[in-house]
Amino acid sequence: MTRMRRTDPLASPEEKFGRLRSILENLKEINHPYAARMAERGVRPEHIRGRGDLPLLPATTKYDLLRSYPTGWIAGERKEIARIHATNGTTGKPVIVACTAGDIRMWAENMAWCMGLSGVGEDDVVQISFAYGLFTGGLGYHYGAELLGAAVIPASAGFTDRQTILMKDLGATVLACTPSYALRISENLAGKGREGISLRLGFFGGETWSDELRGVLEKSLGIKAIDLYGLSEAMGPGVAAECPEQNGLHISDDFIAEILDPVTLEPKEEGEGELVLTSWSRRAYPLIRYRTRDLASLMTGSCPCGEPSPRMSRVRGRSDDMLIFRGVGVFPSQVEAAVCVVPGLSPSYQIRAWKENGLQNISFVCERAPDARPDDMPRAADELAKSVKNVTGAAIPFEILEPGGIPRSDGKTVRVLKQ
Ligand SMILES: [Zn+2]
Repeated sequence: MTRMRRTDPLASPEEKFGRLRSILENLKEINHPYAARMAERGVRPEHIRGRGDLPLLPATTKYDLLRSYPTGWIAGERKEIARIHATNGTTGKPVIVACTAGDIRMWAENMAWCMGLSGVGEDDVVQISFAYGLFTGGLGYHYGAELLGAAVIPASAGFTDRQTILMKDLGATVLACTPSYALRISENLAGKGREGISLRLGFFGGETWSDELRGVLEKSLGIKAIDLYGLSEAMGPGVAAECPEQNGLHISDDFIAEILDPVTLEPKEEGEGELVLTSWSRRAYPLIRYRTRDLASLMTGSCPCGEPSPRMSRVRGRSDDMLIFRGVGVFPSQVEAAVCVVPGLSPSYQIRAWKENGLQNISFVCERAPDARPDDMPRAADELAKSVKNVTGAAIPFEILEPGGIPRSDGKTVRVLKQ
């Protein structure tokens, strides 16, 4: 198995906290907005000596980053900045994220480590069907795969017919894209036949996806489907990844992960809560106790693969994605899980959410699978009603559309349509 060795390894927790203190010192010197937050609390860099001291530091929220738009959160000097990315916020201003050359190198090494856990190496042909551009998905995978010596096809997202032709003709062994785009690729292949496809692995991220969708993708594409987690505020993909054991995500050495109670913000050693990330090494764009809004838990025990890094669970959803329906909290990934297990339905779905008399109301649409018969749909509807009640605890109304009835996307799919 390929394991990435860092050019700048972090040996001990003492050394890591030393580096974190030097980042905090630098923020103080340059009057960074985070240093002002620390000063309000009376916290100084020298107070942070170990993991137990982290709760002294104020948490960073997306609002802090947006408030500093466009460049207020950037800590490096202009001449040190090598790259500027942005989150793909659909409304309003994006979060601008900057990197030094050293930050980009660390990103590449994180991604190479994450992909190396699944044995990606010089024999692989990696088709990257994440968008390239301001969005960090495409370039993150690109750097990681190149560092591992693989051959890279920078296909970017879109032109699905061309994607499947390239995949066959160039013998791609690894596919990287959003899980919803992987589904679209598999639908495209279903119409053409899978002969000549050499895929063995898929790396999927950028959206929350269920184990049930994993099962669908593994079967339809003939791959092992690996969850690889990241977010643009933390540079992009490369924060954590599954190994082939699919037994939680190994967290990259560059990050310290905490789980906080989303309401009290108290650290939780056990159980689910909000994932909060700190980077030891980010220079241009400090990431100190960043509240990701993603709900996950830290895992105990060791992974059979032998990799000793800490692990986190798969992300179940974002705390701000939860919809309240008749008093029950429902995550989009639960609706996905309920749809995926019903024979005769395609795994695509879309939730509609609207307010009625001040109360949240939701329904969803899904689709008949192209190879299922229309007269089989009453049975599928019965099964789906049971499955939805079973997974979410709520009787959410739904409609089954004809194949292709839900709009497809090349990148992140709109799973919840707010009306
Ligand atoms: Zn493992």
